[in-house]
Parts: sequence; C-alpha cells; structure tokens
Amino acid sequence: MAEASYDLVVIGSGPGGYVAAIRAAQLGLKTACVEKYPILGGTCLNVGCIPSKALLDSSEHFALARHGFAAHGIKAQVELDLPTMMARKDKVVKDLTSGVGFLFRKNKVEPVFGTGRIVGPGKVEVAGPEGARTLETKRILIATGSKPAALKGIAYDDRRIVHSTHALTLPEVPKRMLVVGAGAIGLELGSVWMRLGAQVEVLEFMDRIVPGMDKKSGLLLQRSLEKQGMKFHLKTSASGARVEGDQVVVTVTEKEGGATREETCDVLLVAVGRRPYTEGLGAAEVGVKLDERGRVMVDEHYQTNVEGIFAIGDVIQGPMLAHKAEEEGIAAVERMAGLPGHLEYRCIPNVVYTWPELASVGMSEEDAANDGIEVAIGTFPFLANGRAKAMGEREGQVKILADAKTDRILGAHILGPRASDLIAEVATAMELNASAEDLARSVHAHPTLPEAVREAALAVAKRAIHV
Ligand SMILES: Cc1cc2nc3c(=O)[nH]c(=O)nc-3n(C[C@H](O)[C@H](O)[C@H](O)COP(=O)(O)OP(=O)(O)OC[C@H]3O[C@@H](n4cnc5c(N)ncnc54)[C@H](O)[C@@H]3O)c2cc1C
Repeated sequence: MAEASYDLVVIGSGPGGYVAAIRAAQLGLKTACVEKYPILGGTCLNVGCIPSKALLDSSEHFALARHGFAAHGIKAQVELDLPTMMARKDKVVKDLTSGVGFLFRKNKVEPVFGTGRIVGPGKVEVAGPEGARTLETKRILIATGSKPAALKGIAYDDRRIVHSTHALTLPEVPKRMLVVGAGAIGLELGSVWMRLGAQVEVLEFMDRIVPGMDKKSGLLLQRSLEKQGMKFHLKTSASGARVEGDQVVVTVTEKEGGATREETCDVLLVAVGRRPYTEGLGAAEVGVKLDERGRVMVDEHYQTNVEGIFAIGDVIQGPMLAHKAEEEGIAAVERMAGLPGHLEYRCIPNVVYTWPELASVGMSEEDAANDGIEVAIGTFPFLANGRAKAMGEREGQVKILADAKTDRILGAHILGPRASDLIAEVATAMELNASAEDLARSVHAHPTLPEAVREAALAVAKRAIHV
C-alpha cells in the first residue's frame, strides 16, 4: 500500500539521520525517519560514542579511586561492581535514545520502524514488524551509517573474538586482552578494560598509533598509555585466531619479514575500522553509484547520481564521526530547502577519549609539510598550567600551527585533560578564520585549562608568558 507523500524520507536514525530529520521538519518539510532497529539513535547512541564514553568515565573514576585519590589525601578501599557499571551505561543509552523519540514528537518527525529499501526514486518500501509499507516521497536521504570491519582470516564469535559492540558488554574483566588496531576505538575500549584490571596489548600494522593524527602528539599519547600499562606492538597485525576452550589463540604477524607467532588471550578485540553499510538498501539496484570502498558517492549538495536521492554520514566519504554526520545532515536538508547549508571540512575536530585525551583539528605538521606550507608552531605544556597542576594533571601539551606568513590558524593538537572540550575553542577560531594572535589576545578565565590554549597561541609568536 502506497502512503501519503512526504517531502523527505530519511533512512537511518543515527546522528546523521535523526539530526537531518529534525532540521528538515524545522524547515517545514514533511519528514519521516526509517529505522530498522526498534530503538532510535544509530551506532553513536546505541553501540558507539555514548556507551563507550559512559564506560570511559566510569572506568576513569575507578582508576582514579585506585591510583589517584591517595595523592589528594583520600584513602579508599575500592572494589569493582561491573554489573552496576554496565547498568549505568545502559541507562545513559536508554535516556538518550528515548530523548530522540521526544525530539521527533516535538518536531513532528514521523518515526517508521522497519528496514527501508529504495524501490525507485521517491519510493521507500519499509518492511516492519507490522508488515510492509511503501512511503512516497519527494526526496530520500540515505543515512544508513557503517558497521565494524572484519580482518581477513578472523571470524567474530561475539564472545571472545569481538568487535566494538561486544567489547561494550563483556560480562567480566578479561585477564589478557589483545586489541588489533591502535585507532580511537581500539585505544578507548582498550583503556576501559585496562583500567578495570585487564592486561592490554595493542597490535598495530602501521609504525605508529593513531594513524592520521599529528605524529608527535600520537607518540606522546603512546608513552602515556605505556606508563599506564598498555603494551604496543607496532608494524604487527593478527592474521588468524581460533577459540580453544576459554582462550583465543591469535596468529600474530610481523609486517617486516612476515614472521609469525602465536599469542593467547581471553578476549581478542578487532578494531580495524568500519565499513559503509548499504546491505538490503536497494540503492545500487536503482542506479546509485558506490565507490570502490562501497561508499555512496555524492556531489557537493550531498545528492547521488540519481536525482532526489541524497546521502550523508558514515555511508559517504570522509571521517566516520558523529558530528561530521550531524553537520552533513543539516547542510544537506538546508540545501534541499534552498538555504546555503555548508560544512567546513577542515574544521572538524577529531578526539581520542583516552586519558589523557588527544584532540585535533585541521592540519598536522606532516600535512603542512606535504602541502609545502611554512608554519609557525606554538606549544605549551600542561605542566605549566595552574589549573592542570591543581588537578594533578601533568601530562601533555597544546600545540597550535599557524601559517608563517599570515598567522592564520591551520591546526591544533591537544594531548591532555579534557582535550575534547578544549579543541572546540580552536575549531571555532578556525571557522572564523582567526589568527593565532586573535586567540592569544582573547581573555581566558584564570585558573582554567583553556589558558594553555591561549599560551600556545602566544607561543606561536614566541611570547608565551608562563613557560
Ligand atoms: C565504539 C565506537 C565509539 C565511537 N565513538 C565516537 C566518538 O566518540 N565520537 C564520534 O564522533 N564518533 C564516534 N564513533 C563513530 C560514530 O558512532 C559514527 O560516526 C556515527 O554514528 C555515524 O552516524 P550515521 O548517522 O552516519 O550512522 P549510524 O550511527 O551508523 O546510524 C545508521 C542507522 O541506520 C540504520 N539503518 C541502516 N540500514 C537501514 C535500512 N536499510 N533501513 C532502516 N534503517 C537502516 C541503522 O540501524 C542505524 O541505526 C564511534 C563508533 C564506535 C563504534
């Protein structure tokens, strides 16, 4: 049965899809959002950003209570209650996912539960719990996101050989955990279980951790995690794994020379990235072009090669980040409504939520060198920041890159406490095309962590005060 026309049908209710649907409704478009799972919010709210940060915060409290309180003069006997920690995480997720339902009701977005399949331009068939419906619409927005990638030769059993989703729900703390992949997800989930007592070793195929982020900042993060007990095996990967009893036997391969050895662990976490998700969507069948990595190809208006079909978020090219998906969703529907929606890709921050956190925006030193841009660099250590000292946070630094000729800020890399929050100031400054001097002349409250950002901006012109 074909149903009343919509202006827009969004397929997928992750941060890209639900935000696009709300913005579209705000702009007066009659909007439905199709979601295959019975809960809204997509990867980010259900099995990604939110549950991982809930566990990172809980495990950080646990680690502080065990190792950090004594220095503050607090004596405590600490015991882990993992079921309660997990239940808290589940409640955080439930509160936020039901919040999306509230926002849909408030903005008059119609949620439609079931798997959406594009059966032609302007037609989405939804196979839901109550049978199939066909939604007729002027436009379709694909926001179907991504799924964890797998490694050749390693099959997930979802118990001992796991990807991120199952690493968020382990029933007990593994004694030894091997993590394949030293990107954000591997390091964050590795940190959670290390803080709770697991011996965590990370295998990384590249010669460095957090590939793609500023190299020196990555090295500082590696040193810091090593001090906390995490071990790294660089230029190394896993080429096979089998479960034997309650152990996983992993074949570990050296990149150079190809030597292999076997290692055992209780849990093997494979965190080697994510792949775009278009299975069963019907996009390719109606002629939508995908690239060689399976990503939906779009033009600068987020429109595919098929008129009226658009795509945003993890399913298209670019960093797989929730805020990137959200902003693309807003830009895409604003353009549909005739507004000049725009996303400044060079200003998208990227965060690894370990402790200390690593956050970056814009160019790294390596990017600038590759592009032949001469940069002036200012750094400032948290060791010299009054608030960080009061908190007992001595590690890390703020590093700001500015164009040597124009002083325009090109990038920032912050390793330290709450770097995730601190990076916003530099991202905003970059959006406004600010110079390092603009940042340096802005008044920052004392004593605060953002003063370290200001001091790094001062250091670009070699006039930092407190170092
Ligand atoms: C462990 C982990 C931690 C992460 N942490 C962060 C972080 O801290 N910060 C950050 O920015 N990013 C983080 N990410 C990445 C972030 O979750 C994604 O970038 C983001 O969710 C992408 O949003 P999206 O809307 O494009 O897709 P998704 O969130 O993947 O949502 C897609 C939705 O589409 C639905 N869907 C798919 N196909 C169909 C269909 N045919 N019909 C109906 N519905 C369909 C899916 O069920 C899903 O709900 C993390 C990811 C993981 C796994």
